Amino acid sequence: MALLYVDYRVRQRDHLIRLVKAMVSRLNLRAVLRMTLESAVEMLYGSVGLIALRREGDLFTFAATYGIPPAVAESFRPMLEGLSYREGRLHIPPELMEEVARETGLLLRQMVALPLLVEGNLLGVIFVFRPHSARFTPDDEAILAVFADYAAIAVYNARLYEAVDAERMRLNALLEVSADGIMILGPDLRIERFNAAFAALTGWPAAEARGRPYDEVVVWARRSAPQTLRHLVAEGWPPDHPSLYVEGDLRRRNGSLVGVGITYAPLLTRRGKLMNIIAVARDISHFREADKLKETFISIVSHELKTPVAIIRGYAETLLRPEARRDEALTEEMLSAIVEETDRLARLVDDLLDASRLQAGGIPLKEIGEVDLAAIVRRVVERYRLQTDRHTIVLDLPADFPIIRGDARRLEQVFDNLLSNAIKYSPRGGTIVVRGEVHPAEVRLSVSDEGVGIPLEEQDNIFQRFYRVESPETRAVAGTGLGLYLTRAIVQAHGGRIWVKSAPGKGSTFTVALPLQTDLALRGGQSAKKPPPITSSPR
Ligand code: ADP
Repeated sequence: MALLYVDYRVRQRDHLIRLVKAMVSRLNLRAVLRMTLESAVEMLYGSVGLIALRREGDLFTFAATYGIPPAVAESFRPMLEGLSYREGRLHIPPELMEEVARETGLLLRQMVALPLLVEGNLLGVIFVFRPHSARFTPDDEAILAVFADYAAIAVYNARLYEAVDAERMRLNALLEVSADGIMILGPDLRIERFNAAFAALTGWPAAEARGRPYDEVVVWARRSAPQTLRHLVAEGWPPDHPSLYVEGDLRRRNGSLVGVGITYAPLLTRRGKLMNIIAVARDISHFREADKLKETFISIVSHELKTPVAIIRGYAETLLRPEARRDEALTEEMLSAIVEETDRLARLVDDLLDASRLQAGGIPLKEIGEVDLAAIVRRVVERYRLQTDRHTIVLDLPADFPIIRGDARRLEQVFDNLLSNAIKYSPRGGTIVVRGEVHPAEVRLSVSDEGVGIPLEEQDNIFQRFYRVESPETRAVAGTGLGLYLTRAIVQAHGGRIWVKSAPGKGSTFTVALPLQTDLALRGGQSAKKPPPITSSPR
């Protein structure tokens, strides 16, 4: 008997070792459960066994069977539906077993069933059936309890693993869709994770960045914080320093620079050891641009305000002195200079208001009606002829120049700007040609000068807000950089286009194309009544 008992213990030990091995070698859950069930049935001298797992609610699924032909497995379901579990004890009415035996034709005489429990939660049930009438003893139950524990741990681990996996997938998705660059560093400051946004920001593909020391990838051309991440980590990340923010120009892999702000935050273990560093990077170039624009705005506006105000004040002061007023011609000259400078100030204010309106949504076209472009251009040309004797202004318009639909005051502003620029930017004088052409669907008006010209790479920029070309020839010329910005907006509001052809030293030609037929009620958005369609009505 003693020998038999020893043999039994050895067999039990062998089974348990096999199970532990299966569990640590990460066999899948079904394989571990099958092995557990096999061992339990064998150890308890059974013939049939079943492990059922509880899913949502009280729904059970068969996870492993032993000695049950698949075709009859479903016949065991009433036992699962009929079982009750309370405070660690399972109860299954014995007649249910008899029913199953009848239905399946299996020899089921004795039954033992134990709950699979983890922290008091019922994860499933393990059953062992005997084909003979020897009852299961408390010892048998104790042995089965060990197997039940193994099975419960295996299920628990698998579910934990599933949950961790789902969490990891969620985290991955979050990392990848984030518009901010996210990088995770190891305690050795090598890159462990690197998302798509970080790759786009630095120009380093994630696969190449991974494994490198972070400062091979994050290379600053200029940085705000004197303290580097390496210093901070070497000092053991002082607790009064929850994160490190560094801002500056990052040198991308291709050598170009980008304005970036990076926040580094430490991830510590419960014991305070540095586990990871999470770095979040944000492209701050548009903030910088906004700042620069603000500075440009202030400097341009203050400069443009100062000059007329100084002139007006100087003349007014002179005119206050009675002796200065004795010379009538001089008085008149000073008064007209005051009027001129006041107009300039008013124009500046108008341009600024227009620019801010444009930012807010578009240039409103107020009075839409029939516009005689030829008359407008003639008027503007005459005005400027009076203002300059260094330039010859030639007007070349075909007879019968068409009438178009639009806002006459705004269109006059367009040609006023173009002519004013042609004069301003040809300081040595020369010929300015204003030419009109009629095309099947549009009219084109161009203003050509023989002035300083515009480098090719600046030709797009000059239509931007506050943009002025920096060059020795243009530095002395007054301006706000708003003229062409507004001009283009007005032309576009009329459904037209504007472009420039120019070469430095060779002069420039600005061309405005305006459609002959356009539905301006939609574009201008200001006139309540929809204007009748206009065809080219020659004059
Ligand atoms: P502003 O003349 O007030 O500076 P604009 O928006 O009218 O502003 O023009 C923007 C820039 O484009 C100017 O500063 C100038 O450098 C350039 N520019 C415009 N017109 C001409 C031109 N006809 N010839 C040369 N450069 C020009």
